Amino acid sequence: MDILKERILQEGRALSETVLKVDSFLNHGVDARLMYDIGTYFKEYYKNHGITKIFTIESSGIAPTVMTAMQMELPMVTLKKQSSKILNGDVYQTTVHSFTKGSDYELTLSKKYISPEDNILVIDDFLANGEAALGAIRLIEEAGAKVGGIGIVIEKSFQPGRAILDEKGYDVYSLARIGKLGKGIIEFI
Ligand code: 5GP
Repeated sequence: MDILKERILQEGRALSETVLKVDSFLNHGVDARLMYDIGTYFKEYYKNHGITKIFTIESSGIAPTVMTAMQMELPMVTLKKQSSKILNGDVYQTTVHSFTKGSDYELTLSKKYISPEDNILVIDDFLANGEAALGAIRLIEEAGAKVGGIGIVIEKSFQPGRAILDEKGYDVYSLARIGKLGKGIIEFI
């Protein structure tokens, strides 16, 4: 997606060889027009995949996902990064290691928002080691539903997430794929 790549080059900042900051349009400030265009790309790719619902992980996945859900006319569900206070069997929950925070969190989904007939598209802002996506996949599969695709806004292809998801056979579609990051360096593949 060329306009996304241009914005990454213009406004993105590599904080290290592994972390990219895109606070001006995705992670802090949100460019709604760009999010809408991102939704157009995800819709175009996944429109014939029989998707029934779109899941994302709070909070930076919400903006691109809501625009995709609107354009695909599908329900959207935000997976919560918190443990349920009443673990009474009404939720699916799994532990995920956060790439940016370096700590674990509980990813939680209410059983109300998924059924075994669902074919779910998971959308997230970044793909690094794949921990967040794999956590979402565990919740979906525990519910007996299918993972219809993984839509990623920015993939850091030099980290293991993409290869792990490919190897497991998931249909991953990333709008920008970064091959290299470094001081003053952002290279796409
Ligand atoms: P993973 O679970 O694939 O290791 O990391 C993906 C999650 O970590 C995303 O949900 C995103 O919030 C965060 N993340 C990973 N890498 C980056 C990065 O380079 N920049 C930012 N802003 N977030 C990242």
